[in-house]
Amino acid sequence: MHSNTILIIEDNEMNMEIASHLLEMAGFTILKAEEGESGIRLAKEYQPSLILMDMHLPIKDGFEICKLLKQDAKTNHIKIIAFTAQVLEEERKNALACGCEGIIIKPIEVESFACTVASFFDAKRDRS
Ligand code: MN
Repeated sequence: MHSNTILIIEDNEMNMEIASHLLEMAGFTILKAEEGESGIRLAKEYQPSLILMDMHLPIKDGFEICKLLKQDAKTNHIKIIAFTAQVLEEERKNALACGCEGIIIKPIEVESFACTVASFFDAKRDRS
């Protein structure tokens, strides 16, 4: 169990690069997956503390992957943060409904991104 490990599931190369770089600079250990199924495998094997989940992924979208992670006893304790360009209230509600702890909006704010992610480590589940 690596308490400072974050799994990023993101199919956009630039977002992956920026997010992983900023989080590594902040001292986190980063695992990367470009689609959901390999993300699930990494989550089971490495037990990250948190998953940053792009909700718009090829094959199975982030909502579906989120449900699969929450249904599996090996991964259902891992916090998932939805990582999305959509700011619609509907999207936020859907993300929380499928088990996400919260949502981080793209584009990435370079100055605050790592702090925002870190805040989810201790945060209680946001249902508001
Ligand atoms: Mn995407």
